Amino acid sequence: MLRQPLLLLARSAAVKQLVSAMPVSAGIVHSHVPGETTEAAVEATAGLADEGLLATLDFLGEDTLDAEQAEATVQAYLDLLRELSARGLTRGAEVSVKLSAIGQFLPDAAGFGGGHKIALENARTICRAARNAGTTVTLDMEDHTTTDSTLTILRELRKDFPETGAVLQAMLHRTEADCRALAHEGSRVRLCKGAYLEPETVAFQERLEIDKAYVRCLKVLLAGEGYPMIATHDPRMIEIASSLASRHGRAPGSYEFQMLYGIRPDEQRRLAGKGERVRVYVPYGTEWYGYLMRRLAERPQNLTFFLRSLISKS
Ligand SMILES: Cc1cc2nc3c(=O)[nH]c(=O)nc-3n(C[C@H](O)[C@H](O)[C@H](O)COP(=O)(O)OP(=O)(O)OC[C@H]3O[C@@H](n4cnc5c(N)ncnc54)[C@H](O)[C@@H]3O)c2cc1C
Repeated sequence: MLRQPLLLLARSAAVKQLVSAMPVSAGIVHSHVPGETTEAAVEATAGLADEGLLATLDFLGEDTLDAEQAEATVQAYLDLLRELSARGLTRGAEVSVKLSAIGQFLPDAAGFGGGHKIALENARTICRAARNAGTTVTLDMEDHTTTDSTLTILRELRKDFPETGAVLQAMLHRTEADCRALAHEGSRVRLCKGAYLEPETVAFQERLEIDKAYVRCLKVLLAGEGYPMIATHDPRMIEIASSLASRHGRAPGSYEFQMLYGIRPDEQRRLAGKGERVRVYVPYGTEWYGYLMRRLAERPQNLTFFLRSLISKS
């Protein structure tokens, strides 16, 4: 019931301004975001590596309409990749990138080809740095209005960087077909349920329908030739994915589980302990507002905790 208003708030500039005054150290923020700096992200990655967990790091930010901010985001990824490499962490850590944070929505300045082209060039720069550091990039997926542009950019990037990963959202009607198209050899695909508010014309609305779609997509990806990245905290989906993986003769290491930083950490360790590859999505930076609101929409039980943090900030 609260999912819709919380997801609407995730895109409210006024509420963002109010809530973002809260320090990252505030309980609810800190439990989902390890810190604001490259150093904090690298430390979190090192901590996960000590526990046998892989990481994918996300420099927080989205929907930018400011070219300088898009460039600053690219620079943040380059700094991060340099630091991860210097600390010898790139074997177990890659980066996740939101195209809307690196220019996808920028207006068409001087006929340069618009945001789509800018985001592609910026993503190419990050992919090159990731390759040089010995790791990979996964393109996060945002709301359905960006899916075609994101998958087109993915195809372009994969010509030079075939290791680039994609994300597909099971809640979208189109996704089973997208899974089929991307279940080929060498293709890394993260399957998630989908975190955005989507209209019923394009997306399943009921939890049961979304779960059924997730299982259908799992079947396609695990039966395929690619490398599925199973992103969910849902115990049923994890169990179904495990049994489908063994039914298709997939050894651990030919797919991986992914979960968000701070969510079900015991389950992350349990899966890693039984030999599964487990990657934790680590968001960092000051632009945590949209990310946190989407997490609250998924778990409204945390709302009281959040409001308490907000009230006690002063
Ligand atoms: C690594 C990763 C990357 C992602 N990238 C994207 C992306 O690029 N684009 C996108 O749209 N979405 C992304 N998501 C978010 C995703 O789409 C879902 O919104 C989110 O994962 C919640 O769905 P769920 O499958 O975990 O389970 P839900 O359907 O939210 O919950 C199912 C069950 O999982 C368990 N659970 C869920 N959350 C918690 C919690 N906080 N604490 C304890 N138990 C919990 C509970 O048992 C719950 O009943 C990503 C998720 C992950 C894990």
